[in-house]
Amino acid sequence: MPYLTIDCEKIVHNTRTIIGLCAQHGIEVTGVTKAACGMALVAEAMCRGGMQTIGDSRLRNIERIRSDGLETDFMLLRSPTLSQVEAVVAAANISLNSEVSIIRALAHAAKRRAVVHDIILMVDLGDLREGIWPDDLVTAVREVERIDGVRLVGLGTTLGCYGGVVPTIANMTRLASCAQEVETVLRRRLRYVSGGNSGSLPLMLEGGMPKKINHLRIGEAILLGRDTVNFAPIPGCLQGSFKLHAEIIELKAKPSQPIGRIGRDAFGRRPVFPDQGRMLRVILDMGRADIDVEGIVPETPRLKVVGASSDHLIVDVTHAPSRLQPGDTLAFDLNYAGLLRCMLSEYVEKRPQNMVARQMSMVES
Ligand SMILES: *Cc1c(COP(=O)(O)O)cnc(C)c1O
Repeated sequence: MPYLTIDCEKIVHNTRTIIGLCAQHGIEVTGVTKAACGMALVAEAMCRGGMQTIGDSRLRNIERIRSDGLETDFMLLRSPTLSQVEAVVAAANISLNSEVSIIRALAHAAKRRAVVHDIILMVDLGDLREGIWPDDLVTAVREVERIDGVRLVGLGTTLGCYGGVVPTIANMTRLASCAQEVETVLRRRLRYVSGGNSGSLPLMLEGGMPKKINHLRIGEAILLGRDTVNFAPIPGCLQGSFKLHAEIIELKAKPSQPIGRIGRDAFGRRPVFPDQGRMLRVILDMGRADIDVEGIVPETPRLKVVGASSDHLIVDVTHAPSRLQPGDTLAFDLNYAGLLRCMLSEYVEKRPQNMVARQMSMVES
């Protein structure tokens, strides 16, 4: 069965590194666990690396991490649904929001529990995902400020998601000036001015982040050790915290092009194969039903994924540095989508490594 190794120590190391890099630029970090499907072990590793708040887009993930006994603050990243406000105030200390009517419902729920729920208002700076349009921000802020049961603690934005908009000095300065304007209206400082996700790190590392931005929500950079804009390694971070492993079930020399009239493949597509002559090919025990084939790359540089069916992955191993045989295992590096699908797949076993005692008890529970 394919398996995913999860190196907890690397996650701890990357968390420390990212927190340190951000601190140099006056930025606090919330560690985001959603690409690891809110795995409690991963959240625990982030906390061991110094994270004070854990963020996830799914309430279920937050609830699971909580019930596994991790005591920390939790930030809900995806705007709450109206139907889940009770559960949101029970599980999360803070949530990102863009609809005043939902904030009202959160406030009612918070009052019923006799708690105050913290709110970050999201501003849309052009990525066209969630957020209040800057023109409407002051009106929304005035309304939220009047609502009992919630506390407006910050502004935030998301870039590089739906619209793929790159964080720049220009759009970050816009967020900073929105924050300034809101602080003038409120006559107090905002605790958070949250300038986005891993995609904002390159700008920060170049020194382009306005001083006013004091918070980022970082997942991918910690988990994969790479920035999401250029896919380049982040200074001081380790790659390979997650690796996918699968076993060779066939190894044969075959032509690179199928023989016969080409109709449709298993997914209704009309496949095209360049002629690369005969190649040495292996079949591995995983396919499109198990993993995201486009989200994985062989760890060994000269191996190449040539295709997949539901159950099989075919890899060209003509240039493999050593002799392979059925029963051997090949390892793969993952991108964000590749990692997410592995975490979601019940056909991929999860094998945590380098755990401390506390984490072992989480795995057993
Ligand atoms: C997913 C998400 C993040 C973290 O994104 P990464 O690319 O993993 O750093 C931050 N903020 C919000 C609102 C998100 O949905």
